[in-house]
Amino acid sequence: MKFLVSSIIAAVSVVAATVTPMPAMADQAHPRIGFSIDDLRLERWARDRDYFVAAAQSLDAQVLVQSADGNEQRQISQVENLISRGVDAIVIVPFNATVLTNVIAEARKAGIKVVSYDRLILNADVDAYISFDNVKVGEMQAEGVLRNAPRGNYFLLGGAPTDNNARMLRDGQMSVLQPAIDRGDIRIVGQQWVREWNPAEAMRIIEDALTANGNHVDAIVASNDATAGGAIQALAAQKLAGKVPVSGQDADLAAVRRVRDGLQAMTVYKPLKLIAGEAARLSVDLVRGNKPAFNAQYDNGMKKVDTILLTPIMLTRDSIGTLVTDGFYTEAQINGR
Ligand code: BGC
Repeated sequence: MKFLVSSIIAAVSVVAATVTPMPAMADQAHPRIGFSIDDLRLERWARDRDYFVAAAQSLDAQVLVQSADGNEQRQISQVENLISRGVDAIVIVPFNATVLTNVIAEARKAGIKVVSYDRLILNADVDAYISFDNVKVGEMQAEGVLRNAPRGNYFLLGGAPTDNNARMLRDGQMSVLQPAIDRGDIRIVGQQWVREWNPAEAMRIIEDALTANGNHVDAIVASNDATAGGAIQALAAQKLAGKVPVSGQDADLAAVRRVRDGLQAMTVYKPLKLIAGEAARLSVDLVRGNKPAFNAQYDNGMKKVDTILLTPIMLTRDSIGTLVTDGFYTEAQINGR
């Protein structure tokens, strides 16, 4: 008898050990989507969230939103929490592109679709990636600055070292700058990545660059509007704001006003309603088993990830009106202080 009981227990534990976790119950008609965002405290990502939630609701999906507030451990825990709540898909704006391999493997094991949003997650088994063409954004930034400063000393202010976009932007910037470097027209006097795209850090970096070069910096290729803002503050302290062209991206309201006032050479408009709407459709399509309209592939170190790549729009002082026609801002917002 004793033998029998212990063999039953053994049999049960063998069964338990070989049972794979239950796949999440995909409700194709009413999918539940987790949206894990690096940092909702930033203007850009709060807008993405609003557009995404609205688009998902119009597709009969429900969204659970989480903000990691720029903390990689918190983001991992939040994704784990979304897995245990049995969502059908998880859409992630990663804080750190390289630390999500294990938690995404867990999600996939539970049958959850995983979408990398705006920033590519590296070395992870994601189902899809959606973004604007970041290399193109980098090209636009370099072109916008080069147009205003065809010769002289250049400083490259990169994005966050934890963000794969920062590298893609740099690739695009260099493809435009390299011929001018080779001709001897421009010289890179310094380059630095800005941790967490932090404006205060960008300001410190440019203060140091100005000091090191006796203020002889003729152009700054900044990788987004937040860091451009920090750079322009450092320039303003030396009465150089408006004299040294600075690039950006995002069409943040403060940056659009700087472009209007001639303090920032350009920004890049990425219609957030478009990426958020397409991402909601993509997630729902994956859950419903419909084939999404992919138009690119990116190697993330583990696999070639099917990608939807969207087109960014360069904005200068002459073209910021596009933001009003497109409903991104009202004229009153742009004209305010
Ligand atoms: C995004 C930019 C944004 C930056 C900081 C990048 O990954 O593509 O639009 O400005 O992150 O949040």
